[in-house]
Amino acid sequence: MNESIETIVAAPVFEPGHVWLAGAGPGHPRYLTLEVADAIGKADVIVHDALVSDGVLSLATTAELVFVGKRGGKPSVAQDDITGLLIELARKGKRVLRLKGGDPFVFGRGGEEAEALARENIPFRVLPGMTSALAALASANIPATMRGMSRAITLATGHAAGSPGDLDWKALAKTGEPIVVYMGVSTIGTIARLLIEGGLSPETPVAVLMAATTPDERSLTATLATVEAEVVRQKFAAPALIVIGRIVSMQAVLSGSKP
Ligand code: SAH
Repeated sequence: MNESIETIVAAPVFEPGHVWLAGAGPGHPRYLTLEVADAIGKADVIVHDALVSDGVLSLATTAELVFVGKRGGKPSVAQDDITGLLIELARKGKRVLRLKGGDPFVFGRGGEEAEALARENIPFRVLPGMTSALAALASANIPATMRGMSRAITLATGHAAGSPGDLDWKALAKTGEPIVVYMGVSTIGTIARLLIEGGLSPETPVAVLMAATTPDERSLTATLATVEAEVVRQKFAAPALIVIGRIVSMQAVLSGSKP
């Protein structure tokens, strides 16, 4: 009883010269893991992206904060510069917390950063975070999997939809299983068209979940045929997730009995 977070977490010691690649969850600090909350208090320097919310950063009372995301239309810091910075800070003997939105290994380029650290023999750990899709689905009352409705769920990036060498959206359509698209707001028209060409009905339900767990949270529902126009009409913008499939229809059922 009355144990400190530190005792409960019992994480390895955050040593000087080590880098911890951590996920800050979808936005609201209540979705931080205890381990990441503890690490925020122990780090000397926190290197973070735009998706790490002010609420999460407000827990950093002693660490120096270094922002390496994209903000105000300015280009983002190049990935090589970020990994270079992590290596430099670690070699200076800092406890470096690399903090990313969601989970560091889900579309967070955490794999690349870990690879660079491994190559340079910088000791590192990966601390998982709640990926935004899970929080957004829960918040929208859409079950990720549902017996009789889905047996798998695909997490896809919409970033390069329609460009050569991108995901085979038509093949995904053929599975009939739900898809959650990250970074797909600007490419949703192309994605919807490819999924319909792949055999999904234009009437397939779609939800767009924006800024989940933050004060700017909004959602809309549409169909594959109408989603692009709805996104434009309702001025939805990143960060948003697009959920495609029958699971979306559960929202109406479950929201009827919302507390
Ligand atoms: N590593 C992150 C994803 C980074 S890619 C994760 O695990 O969640 C950035 C994309 O994540 C955004 O374009 C958006 O699609 C999604 N995203 C992140 N936070 C979000 C939030 N709070 N609400 C909706 N989408 C979010």
